[in-house]
Amino acid sequence: MEQNPPFPSPDELRSKLSEFMKTNFGDKVSFSTFAQPETAEAGGDEKPAKPDADEFGFNFLPRDIKAHLDRFVIKQDEAKKVLSIAVCDHYNHVNYLRQLEREDTARAEETEYAKQNVILVGPTGVGKTYLIKHIAELIKVPFVKADATKFSETGYVGGDVEDLVRELVQKADGDVGLAQFGIIYIDEVDKIAAAGNLVGRDVSGRGVQTTLLKLMEETEVPLRSANDIQSQLQAAFEFQKRGGQAKRETISTRHILFVVSGAFERLKQQVSRRIAQGQIGFNAEPRQVMDNELFQHVTTQDFIEYGFEPEFIGRLPVRVVCEELTADDLYKIMKFSEGSILRQYERSFRAYGIEISFEDEALRLIAAEAAKEKTGARGLLTVWEKLFRDYKYHLAGSGLTQLRVSIELVQEPARVLERLMAEGHRQEEAALVQSAIMFTDQFKAQHGLGIQFDDSALKRLVERAEAERMTMPELCAHLFKDYQFGLSLVQKNTAQESFVLTAEAVDAPDKFLSELVVRSHYPLAPAEKD
Ligand code: ADP
Repeated sequence: MEQNPPFPSPDELRSKLSEFMKTNFGDKVSFSTFAQPETAEAGGDEKPAKPDADEFGFNFLPRDIKAHLDRFVIKQDEAKKVLSIAVCDHYNHVNYLRQLEREDTARAEETEYAKQNVILVGPTGVGKTYLIKHIAELIKVPFVKADATKFSETGYVGGDVEDLVRELVQKADGDVGLAQFGIIYIDEVDKIAAAGNLVGRDVSGRGVQTTLLKLMEETEVPLRSANDIQSQLQAAFEFQKRGGQAKRETISTRHILFVVSGAFERLKQQVSRRIAQGQIGFNAEPRQVMDNELFQHVTTQDFIEYGFEPEFIGRLPVRVVCEELTADDLYKIMKFSEGSILRQYERSFRAYGIEISFEDEALRLIAAEAAKEKTGARGLLTVWEKLFRDYKYHLAGSGLTQLRVSIELVQEPARVLERLMAEGHRQEEAALVQSAIMFTDQFKAQHGLGIQFDDSALKRLVERAEAERMTMPELCAHLFKDYQFGLSLVQKNTAQESFVLTAEAVDAPDKFLSELVVRSHYPLAPAEKD
């Protein structure tokens, strides 16, 4: 174990801090002004615990929020509507209370209000988190997500739950005022239901419910965790700074909105059984998914029977269901959601110079595959990743510039990939050949000498450009750098104006050229010499 560094004496602390203030802020700021909120940045989180009126303003209508969600989230209309209303009610009330706090603190304290905390029921991957995340983004409040199971598995339950609140402060970049209006999202809350959870969870399940309940009611959470040495040290600094007077730095959970969610798989069975009285029996279906129609009949009593404390459930008045996504919904997610995975793939292929496009039928097929995964829209990620992994690997840098995703591609990805690679190769070859011909044109224009590559030369040029990862103009310039001199010599000797270059010229350009030169001399040489 590491030893903590020795803690400085109060005088040392004071002089170090003064020095720090002086270097950073000049003479105007002295150590005694350190505790003022304006210098909060230098001294750590010194923001006032009560929110400032200007820090957060809420001015949305339910329909604004729903319209925003519609851009990203497919289906879940009921959930969008209910959430939009709950969020507006919650934050309008916050606005109202803050106004009141300024005018009449006592009345603000007394105002009764049932907070619009939410239970979101629905299977995995259908957009529960996605909805809340987008709401938080729109209204610009920090958002924190955690799994309820995490709390039941760790020993010290209370500490952990409070970390969520501190995490909100982090997400708000240390702005405690803003963090107080954040949203805390707790997933898998059905796993902390006590009844029916007989595998040793029962006690901790109840325990977690109780600690969460404390947060959802109103409580003050210390800004510094008792388990975090660094923040304890900082607290000690500030303790010294105040001349030994402790100040409780806390964040109130009064205005934090809580959203809990879970699949609640037994709930459907439980409710349908109650509704269709007498119709007892076990449903063999592996998954029980709640739908909106049945959800109308879910009562508080159903949640209590499920294993929740009445007080816990009582603190979650807004209840809404996110329905399972069908293959058609998955298709729409790909095609219409602004956050669609399809856009992501378009971008990643474009980075390799490939324009990817999709046939509708192919998307339908992918959607059907993804639906089989039974993991909601997450199934899409799995299917896409599997389908396109090899495509990204092999097509990047293959010369292919267009990729059309067809039914055939989805059905037989390996075969289509092979064909595309050949196609990419052909495209690349054609482009290289074209580029070699352009070189000869330029050569003629610059030096007045006609050169022409025969088929064997073109083939070797393409091979070498590919193997040596050179562009064709670079390769030709390099290979034939002496040709204008050599060939003009030949031209002088023979009056020949145009030359055919073969594979030999590509493989051994100097040898090829000197042979041409020698041969151009040869018929004349003996006569001249004699
Ligand atoms: P969960 O319901 O388990 O909280 P998420 O909201 O985390 O599921 O969904 C996982 C991902 O799947 C999201 O990030 C989003 O990209 C996509 N997704 C899920 N549901 C939808 C939906 N209804 N519309 C659009 N995208 C969705």
